[in-house]
Amino acid sequence: MTETLITNARIFVPGGWQEGDILIRDGHIAAIGEIPPQSALDLRPVTFDVHGMAIIPALVNGHTHLSQTFMRGLAGGRPLLRWLKELIWPLQGAMSEEVLELAALLGLAENIRSGAGSVVDHQKITRTAAFTEAIVRAAKKSGLRVTVARAWSDRGNGAESAQAILDELEGFFEQASSPSTSLRTNRVTFASGPLTPWRASAETLQKTHALARRFDSFTHIHVSETAEEVEMTFKETGLRPVAWLDSLGILDERSQIVHAVWVDEAEMDLLAQRRAPVVHCPVSNAVLGSGIAPIKAMLAKGINLRLGTDGPASNDTQDCFENMKTALMLARASSLDAAAVSPRQALEMATASGGLAVGQPADLCLVNLNSVWSAPTHDLDSALALCARASDVQALMVGGDWLMRDGKLVTLDEEDIIKEAQSAVKILRKKAGLDS
Ligand SMILES: [Zn+2]
Repeated sequence: MTETLITNARIFVPGGWQEGDILIRDGHIAAIGEIPPQSALDLRPVTFDVHGMAIIPALVNGHTHLSQTFMRGLAGGRPLLRWLKELIWPLQGAMSEEVLELAALLGLAENIRSGAGSVVDHQKITRTAAFTEAIVRAAKKSGLRVTVARAWSDRGNGAESAQAILDELEGFFEQASSPSTSLRTNRVTFASGPLTPWRASAETLQKTHALARRFDSFTHIHVSETAEEVEMTFKETGLRPVAWLDSLGILDERSQIVHAVWVDEAEMDLLAQRRAPVVHCPVSNAVLGSGIAPIKAMLAKGINLRLGTDGPASNDTQDCFENMKTALMLARASSLDAAAVSPRQALEMATASGGLAVGQPADLCLVNLNSVWSAPTHDLDSALALCARASDVQALMVGGDWLMRDGKLVTLDEEDIIKEAQSAVKILRKKAGLDS
């Protein structure tokens, strides 16, 4: 049995903040409050005095594409579909498994620095199963909780056969649920990742969703990111995308709806009734000029909202703090209402949590508020949601393991990864035909 005691902290708990200590035992939160240095079990826990740092639940990056760390800084004024065709798809097509693993390591290191303990990677490079395996290798090295949502499309460009999609998904689900899987491996899980409603057939959506349910997983899908996409589904089916997914019986608590920028009142009511989580990606939607999701209305309807950075190609980082502040700002600006999203609500969306409590897995993010942009602290919710930056993250713990401590990554060699990425991207650009 191992114990870690973090003392002298300001802790984000349901409904407010608590000053004191937090005791971690076997990967879980065992106590919060004034904890004597010697625990009830007579153990001497390893103790860290954090001198008033804020401890919040590890952030959740609800949607990204790790491959796109090699495609940052390219969204220079092209509309979504042209940007995909001219830049993103050629670069994706040129990636080898080794380069994809490196891109994923870089992206996971960035998520750790950003305070994210859980990441959903919508994994788009699926020419063979070996590409998804490369992501899994990187995820295991990082120690993060990573869900690999294996992307697929059985309609249009690059369509795969429904059977091939189902077979590969089933293989991954079985791999994750195998009893021989180690604890570290258990942090890596899989999901079904149809790209969009207009690139997936009704039948395969239903079959993959049923398969995901069987393995206690979920469907993760881009929906209504642009107005143009809504038109396409409406013309074809007579229904808007969220309503169409509902008509297929796959809109439920196990369908993560990514973007939902262009949803009407009736669709928002459906999202609330079916308890389908919405993953809001405010920075990506703004960078690509796609629009602003109506999250003030979504929160009022009780929709389960969380945040995603989206891939670095359209963000161009995976900075979860910037994403949180942008969610709050855009919601207020678009509704002309300074009370549209409170700092507390922004933190709850960013962490997909109402606060730390005894019994939860010890997924913690330690943030230094003694910085020139955060001090002095009047209100901790505002300090975290409006002042703090990703660079203030001092430590990240997942399941009781430190992935970052004292500002240094523990599981990944950051310098090495950056150096390798800088040289690998030159070769990738040539291979993709972007450089002669
Ligand atoms: Zn995306």
